Amino acid sequence: YRAWEVKRVRTTCPHCATGCQYDLIVKDNKIVDVEGADGPSNHNMVCVKGRSGSFDFVDHPDRVRHPLIKNKETGEFEQATWEEALDYVAKKFTELRDTYGGDSLAGFACARSANEDIYMLQKMVRTAFHTNNTDNCARVCHAPTVAGLATTLGSGAMTNTIEDITQKSDLILLVGSNPEHAHPVLGMQIRRAVHKGTKLIVVDPRDIDLAHAADVHLKLTPGTNVAFANGMMNIILSEGLEDRKFIDERTENFEEMKKVIDKYPAEKVAEICHVDVDKLIEAAKMYASAKNAAIIYCLGVTEHHTGTEGVMSLSNLAMITGNFGRPGCGVNPIRGQNNVQGACDMGASPDQFPGYQKLSAPGVLEKFEKAWGTKLNPKEGTKATECFGKMLTKEIRGLFIFGEDPVRTDPDTAHVIKALKNLDFLVMDELFLTETAKMADVVLPGRSYAEKEGTFSNTERRVQRIRKAVEIEGETREDIWIFTEIMNRMGYPQPHLTSAQVMDEVASVTPSFAGISHARLDSEEVAGRGLQWPCTAKDHPGTPIMHVGKFSRGLGLCNPIEYIPSMELPDEEYPMKMMTGRVLYHYNACAMTDKTEGLNEISGHSFIEINTEDAERIGIKDGDRVKVSSRRGSIETTANVSGKTNPGECWMPFHFLDGGANWLTSDALDSISSTPEYKVCAVKIENT
Ligand code: SF4
Repeated sequence: YRAWEVKRVRTTCPHCATGCQYDLIVKDNKIVDVEGADGPSNHNMVCVKGRSGSFDFVDHPDRVRHPLIKNKETGEFEQATWEEALDYVAKKFTELRDTYGGDSLAGFACARSANEDIYMLQKMVRTAFHTNNTDNCARVCHAPTVAGLATTLGSGAMTNTIEDITQKSDLILLVGSNPEHAHPVLGMQIRRAVHKGTKLIVVDPRDIDLAHAADVHLKLTPGTNVAFANGMMNIILSEGLEDRKFIDERTENFEEMKKVIDKYPAEKVAEICHVDVDKLIEAAKMYASAKNAAIIYCLGVTEHHTGTEGVMSLSNLAMITGNFGRPGCGVNPIRGQNNVQGACDMGASPDQFPGYQKLSAPGVLEKFEKAWGTKLNPKEGTKATECFGKMLTKEIRGLFIFGEDPVRTDPDTAHVIKALKNLDFLVMDELFLTETAKMADVVLPGRSYAEKEGTFSNTERRVQRIRKAVEIEGETREDIWIFTEIMNRMGYPQPHLTSAQVMDEVASVTPSFAGISHARLDSEEVAGRGLQWPCTAKDHPGTPIMHVGKFSRGLGLCNPIEYIPSMELPDEEYPMKMMTGRVLYHYNACAMTDKTEGLNEISGHSFIEINTEDAERIGIKDGDRVKVSSRRGSIETTANVSGKTNPGECWMPFHFLDGGANWLTSDALDSISSTPEYKVCAVKIENT
């Protein structure tokens, strides 16, 4: 396109939490292309999702463009005016609140929307709904990170930056993460670092592509991360490779933790994890000997019933080797969706206000009551994964879902559908008629990232701008406007604020965001690099590396953790361990990426990876249709036979509607964060 024909709008990719910066190329109010920009986490790179999957959905014919109310008799949606839809929503929620109490309502935030939207959603739930039943999709991914790292370090977020890890680490320990598919631009930078000499240890039950570039690949059986970390620490301590000075000066509780670590000698751990003992010893020595070693992990660590323990175990490992507070080291959770970090930061959480200010901490409730000018419900809310059980018992009767699709993304689909059907009233703020939106009583058409101003926070705690590029036909409304209208109609009068004004309000009540504003993010001082929280004053430069000199909690906590096996292990009836994950070409429930035909052509259907030995035993070949069953349901899909998984283990992507993996997954929950154990359930595979 010739420069004068188009406008360029600098923004942040809406898919994964790498937070790539790019320009939307707009011609005649239509996005026609994407060009990578020099952002701090992407340096002009974009992946196939960012390049091809970021604009077809914006003005797609399937967009919901008018408010919809379901006709109770026909079961069909009918177009309504905004007045009709908002009056109806407010009336029903007010009736339920006044009859059954605020805790009969709940509101889930959207981890793909802007910080400002999420802040206003949780404010609506806490004020107008009068409940703390608000949560976000971190509950099904990185809630163990928030809980685990907040316990051991005092802050539940990534410690370092993508730039310093991929340019200054001597060694990267990659655990339960497949970044070349789930966070491709980060994956590319890790691969480039390895080419330049950074050592790489991959700990993953699958032969992910990066495993072939690794110095050591520990192909451990899923569900054994805690044993693995304890084994690494046992070897490091036996070899005298720990950082004694760091342990003495910067941590507490080391001796108590050591008593547990002593119970995990290398041979025992190798047996639990099904890995070669010599490789385990080699990995431990390599990690402990590196000057700056960074741990990067993802959902292979968190999505277990011991997910929080897995996170704390990795923190223990970094602690005893002194790998904190410098460039190129730390413990670095890679968040999934573009703004799941922001959804947590903005307080869409049943026990924390924005900035992780605990509801139960002295003075916090009173502070927000004063700021928001209303009495708030002092009772801790219900976590999203536990809300479904409360829908079945009618403790929760009304639900507002902003841009999430739990029918496709939450475990045990049959249970989720049954729970949603039992609600008195379900409202969705959505772009498309997703599987969950189809079940709603009202659908309110919100706006995508390309149709509004705001900010996303990437996995590095970096707050970056999104900017309005186009307006689409129809009667969509900005999400902030929708929440404000509902608050006004439910007896909590609010002025209509711009996105920038909402961020100013966030800064006024959130110490870690006190120095963040749209004006500052747009200024030459910040120069397109965003601001990383904590950013505590208007002249604070942000915090690229956390825990320099001192942990957020003071001393780092060494936490003794015993290994506990997964909740549902294979048996005679269901003899295989199944894991779920992502492919390169799609994002989560595909609400945005499946609107790009090219991506569907490359990868449009579900499949299951099966080991060659298992395939021979069952009598199936690559490409055969198979039936996969668990205790919760059965699906049909296509066999992808290879050596990628270990014998007795299989893997499925969860994106696809045909053969949806979550009809099979278990809703066993992490005992601390209530995150589901997506990474291990028992299944049987049969020839159809
Ligand atoms: Fe978007 Fe993630 Fe790809 Fe970057 S790596 S372009 S943020 S999907």
